Amino acid sequence: MATKQIERVIAPESKHFVGDGFLVYNMIPGSSGLTMQRMSPFIMLDYNAPYYFPPSDTPKGVGVHPHRGFETVTIAYKGKVEHHDSSGGGGVIEEGDVQWMTAASGVLHKEFHEKEWSKKGGEFQMVQLWVNLPAAHKMSKPGYQAITDAQMQRYKIDEAGSEVKVISGEYMGVKGAAKTFTPVHLYNATLKAGVSATFDLPAKYNTALLVIEGSVTVNGTHKVPANNLGLFANGGETFAVEATTDSVVLILSGEPIDEPIAAHGPFVMNTRQEIMEAFHDYNVGKFGYLED
Ligand code: MN
Repeated sequence: MATKQIERVIAPESKHFVGDGFLVYNMIPGSSGLTMQRMSPFIMLDYNAPYYFPPSDTPKGVGVHPHRGFETVTIAYKGKVEHHDSSGGGGVIEEGDVQWMTAASGVLHKEFHEKEWSKKGGEFQMVQLWVNLPAAHKMSKPGYQAITDAQMQRYKIDEAGSEVKVISGEYMGVKGAAKTFTPVHLYNATLKAGVSATFDLPAKYNTALLVIEGSVTVNGTHKVPANNLGLFANGGETFAVEATTDSVVLILSGEPIDEPIAAHGPFVMNTRQEIMEAFHDYNVGKFGYLED
């Protein structure tokens, strides 16, 4: 099988606040060239690199807002996020947990630092990834998958703690818990210094890795330091990731959804008309109700 090569290594650029609780680098689609089309089905990736939030009696975060047409995947590395939505879903996303929310036809939700965590403050690190839905499912019923760290399926590499946690899709025969509408492989790899893992993913799938902690070398040639994104070319299947120091790496690979994209803020549809309908439905209360 041919090697899947790194096309570019992308450094984080400017950070911005989402509400007052998430200080993020917008890697997709904010980085040059990482458009929604190029990265499909991954249409947005916000990365809150490690950041210290001082104690606050009032939890920081982002208030009630809508989503339609896609899924939001929140991966908690440090800190805790409390979430509530208008379909009745909610809970606390703790360190190591993943929350996979299918907004589909529309939800209102709010995302805040968990109350007790907020009172103590601390280092906060999180990824929010938006996965597009195919047209056939954009108006499906909203849903919610809470996958705790304990429930996560793992492929163990060694006894020292190197492993690949499979959030969705499959790695070495280990299947992830999250159900997806189109093929999406999402892994969180913990690699001790000097340990290497090999990945085999379809050539045409849009594939990238984000170094959450440490530093890695891909295919023995490309160094990808912490907070950088390694973008793979759409050719070849196999690549190797070697940790130069103890590292954590998020790997995303998905089959592109070959459909038009019309996006505006929290709505991602196929046509401009559908965006107008989303605004209309939101304004007339069709997304339900959620208390501030
Ligand atoms: Mn949201």
